Amino acid sequence: MKQNLIQKISQYIPKDRIMQNEPMKNHTTFRVGGPAALYLELKTEQEFGDILRLLHAEEEDYFTVGNGSNLLISDTGYDGIILHPSKEFSDVRIEGERLICESGATLAAIARVALEQGLTGFEFAAGIPGSLGGAIVMNAGAYDGEMKQVVESVRLITSEGEIVTKSCEEMGFSYRHSILKEEPYLVLSVVIKLEKGNREQIKARMDELAMKRREKQPLEYPSAGSTFKRPEGYFAAKLIQDAGLRGFTVGGAQVSEKHCGFVINRENATAQDIHELMKQVQQKVQDAFGVKLEPEVIRLGEFEKG
Ligand SMILES: Cc1cc2nc3c(=O)[nH]c(=O)nc-3n(C[C@H](O)[C@H](O)[C@H](O)COP(=O)(O)OP(=O)(O)OC[C@H]3O[C@@H](n4cnc5c(N)ncnc54)[C@H](O)[C@@H]3O)c2cc1C
Repeated sequence: MKQNLIQKISQYIPKDRIMQNEPMKNHTTFRVGGPAALYLELKTEQEFGDILRLLHAEEEDYFTVGNGSNLLISDTGYDGIILHPSKEFSDVRIEGERLICESGATLAAIARVALEQGLTGFEFAAGIPGSLGGAIVMNAGAYDGEMKQVVESVRLITSEGEIVTKSCEEMGFSYRHSILKEEPYLVLSVVIKLEKGNREQIKARMDELAMKRREKQPLEYPSAGSTFKRPEGYFAAKLIQDAGLRGFTVGGAQVSEKHCGFVINRENATAQDIHELMKQVQQKVQDAFGVKLEPEVIRLGEFEKG
């Protein structure tokens, strides 16, 4: 990475939050991924604004990484700049039935605040291992809940460093989709609107859903959750199972024996193993049932064609 760019970046953020050749396997739940040329930890809105304006002026590529729980980053890494809303960019402020949350907050932390405040509506998200920013991009959801149901508005910053606020309707939320899949906005903060509820009932629901996850999901292995989206009228896990792919393996990557919808890093998988496995699963399901499985997991970097 050009030293003069690093010099310019260090005018805005201290050197200990500017990492060169940072291994991305340390920042993804798949535990794979080569180095990012630069990895920046950002703590304040001011820093996001300053850095985005600089990168825009310098015409540098960047990519935002939250908790890395829906990402497959290639073994060769990313030859650009990773922006990471740091753990300190995770304030959750309570205003009656509203939680005003910075995008680095984890869904688990927000769920804890909701529980403490006796606010209901966020129970579905308590066990999703992402940051709020990533959950907005993905319209993350589980057990009949999705972010769309609880978001009132989203504060965003454009790649030119301009701040805009969008209402829930303007976010274009649909199944695992928002306008942020197409627009390069970065999520700064979100107003989440919940309702007064009963603390015991909220706790009981969170515990019940956590137990379901532990029973059904291979949480003992690194993964990115459900690898494929639910195709209209089908369940991805059922199609994969019926195609005879339970336990199907490429290198260290495997279709989970516990839950066929999860590809897991079974043993020292490379990103290429996971990529290859996903391609083969797609092909075999297509051949067996004529259904196209679309990845839910987002890929970054270069993969071999194979
Ligand atoms: C064990 C396991 C279980 C899971 N269960 C579920 C589930 O039940 N339901 C579900 O929906 N998902 C689930 N997931 C997937 C994942 O947790 C969600 O998609 C989550 O919302 C991703 O958030 P993240 O912060 O990790 O995003 P990342 O993986 O870091 O990024 C995902 C996308 O969001 C973008 N992004 C991240 N932060 C920002 C930001 N601040 N501003 C702009 N863009 C940003 C990234 O550029 C990328 O495009 C699961 C994953 C695992 C590992």
